[in-house]
Amino acid sequence: MSDFAAQRARMVEHQLRERGIEDERVLAAMGEVPREEFVGERRREMAYADAALPIGSEQTISQPWIVAAILQALELQGEETVLEIGTGSGYSTCLLGRLSEHVVSVERHAGLARLAAEHLRTCRAQNVELMVGDGSRGVPARAPFDAIAVHAAAPAAPPALLEQLADGGRMVVPVADGSEEMLTVLRRRGNEFETVALAPCRFVPLIGAEGF
Ligand code: SAH
Repeated sequence: MSDFAAQRARMVEHQLRERGIEDERVLAAMGEVPREEFVGERRREMAYADAALPIGSEQTISQPWIVAAILQALELQGEETVLEIGTGSGYSTCLLGRLSEHVVSVERHAGLARLAAEHLRTCRAQNVELMVGDGSRGVPARAPFDAIAVHAAAPAAPPALLEQLADGGRMVVPVADGSEEMLTVLRRRGNEFETVALAPCRFVPLIGAEGF
């Protein structure tokens, strides 16, 4: 086993399984996707640290546990069309691609989106589509989405995204309330949204029409 594969296996056991992640598809995907390919040459040795890491343009790749918690809350079975806001390095995009049928991912930094496209080619992710722009408005032309993952903190669940969520669909979004941030799961039932607080968290801000 390569050193990175061994580190990945330890991450899955100690950072994820032992801390309550139990969706076997999520654990398997995170045991396979090479996180070291997404963090940049200088940080490869730290790829499996129990922490967020800088990826340039003042942005970060989230801590593995947070990525897993988001993926688990989306309850993906493999048939879904997923919208992701905040492609960043492309790591979470690659995981979403493995867990669903198709992913549309939006990033506002063109430079990061270019790097993410390279990383995703290295990992042969073929069912992911990258777009550059303000994702806080979603992608109405492609709605509805069975699941939506937002990787940047918003003042509230963006209304445009709620509208683009399919009936029965799940959205995960970090909601910032003053200095507190809560990773929040919303499930659509008709025009009602069941809301569950998942865990305190810290994300970069969602910058845009329905963000900050
Ligand atoms: N999921 C990423 C981490 C994303 S960090 C990974 O696995 O690497 C959050 C990202 O959201 C940043 O790259 C930031 O540029 C982006 N972002 C912030 N506001 C945005 C917006 N309105 N639309 C799209 N992307 C946005």
